[in-house]
Amino acid sequence: MATSTSSARTAKSLITVDDALSRILARIAPLESIEIPLADALGSVLAAPVVADRDVPGFSNSAMDGYAVRGADVQSAPARLSVVGSVAAGTMPERTVGSGEAMRIMTGAPLPQGADTVVRVEDTDNGERAVTITHATPTGMAVRRAGEDHRRGDTVIAAGSVIRPAEIGVLATVGRDRVSVIRRPNVAIVSTGDELVEIGEQPRPGQIRDANRYSLSSAVRALRASPFELGIARDTPEDLRHALGNAAFGDLVVTSGGVSVGDHDHVKPVVDSMGSIDFWSIALRPGRPLAFGDLRTKRGTVPIFGLPGNPVSALLTFELFVRPAILKMAGHTKLHRPRAQARLLDRIEKPTGLRMFARGIYDREAGTVRSTGPQGSAILGSMALANCLIDLPAPLPAADRGETVDVVLTDLTEDH
Ligand code: AMP
Ligand code: MG
Repeated sequence: MATSTSSARTAKSLITVDDALSRILARIAPLESIEIPLADALGSVLAAPVVADRDVPGFSNSAMDGYAVRGADVQSAPARLSVVGSVAAGTMPERTVGSGEAMRIMTGAPLPQGADTVVRVEDTDNGERAVTITHATPTGMAVRRAGEDHRRGDTVIAAGSVIRPAEIGVLATVGRDRVSVIRRPNVAIVSTGDELVEIGEQPRPGQIRDANRYSLSSAVRALRASPFELGIARDTPEDLRHALGNAAFGDLVVTSGGVSVGDHDHVKPVVDSMGSIDFWSIALRPGRPLAFGDLRTKRGTVPIFGLPGNPVSALLTFELFVRPAILKMAGHTKLHRPRAQARLLDRIEKPTGLRMFARGIYDREAGTVRSTGPQGSAILGSMALANCLIDLPAPLPAADRGETVDVVLTDLTEDH
């Protein structure tokens, strides 16, 4: 009875994961566009549609090595034709092809006037002066017609498309050596804590190595955004203010630690004094405290996320809240990971009233998922073992072995 009263009271001051995310996304807008060399555009979002500067292909050509002929001459086999020349890719045919004639042709070579069909070399005796067609061939066979891929002026890649290797190829085909894309976000990373030391140091009693700076910067890099690391801010308002002053050169700031209500948690008051901040208690395990707001700078305001310090909470709240924000800034519209349903192989206890993202190992073939083991928010190894997050709804006290659960496939991306 006492438990349910206290959890009902807590639940009132908590906001849901979905609420937090929609408040965040409402305040994030895509960055401006810039022109960059095509070779650097992989993973960026195209800012303006690209149209074909010419028909693609630009001329009718052969899809096979063989003989260019008139279709009417090869409707039945065998057929005997005289060979009137040869044409290779990159050259122009020296004459036309008349009835009863064939011209040797290589893949990609322009189709000679008069011809409308290519008989592949395997369907002939490969003759030099005269050729015997051994298989009847339908008219139009093995011919790539001018403009069949795109017409000049057609949009070949729409604005908003994510540039993958295939898009790079299409853009190269239409001669775009520079493209207009949404700029990549620069993300400032600040660790906070008097106990933190650089990773090359031997921690003295009471000290730990700064893991979050590295995990969070690489999470930024995995989104093809650019992290810049501002090191460790000590647990004083002055040190934090100094670090955040430099951080404001970024498009977005991510801090870890110092957002709880301990005596040395300065993120909220300091950001409040340098802009504005909302401090949220999210109905989430792990990662309940999260600060989100704006840092005032000379260039305007920059969104800031104060993530919890526990290494699992920091990475998990990055995944849930910062990742979609960075993707939105970079112009993406698919902001969320793919999901799946799976049969749970072991029981997972959870706090009633909090949505829990348990670290899991998903087996796609078997359609199952199991827990990585102990789920404490300091057990970063659980994150390293996991290939998914098991999304357990707030109202449940536990999820039982055999139940069907929702999993977030953190090893996969929608399209970037
Ligand atoms: P805090 O949110 O500052 O109260 O930190 C919560 C826990 O996370 C404490 O045990 C911290 O020592 C730990 N922690 C905070 N920052 C980091 C970091 N950058 N790397 C590893 N652990 C951290
Ligand atoms: Mg701390």
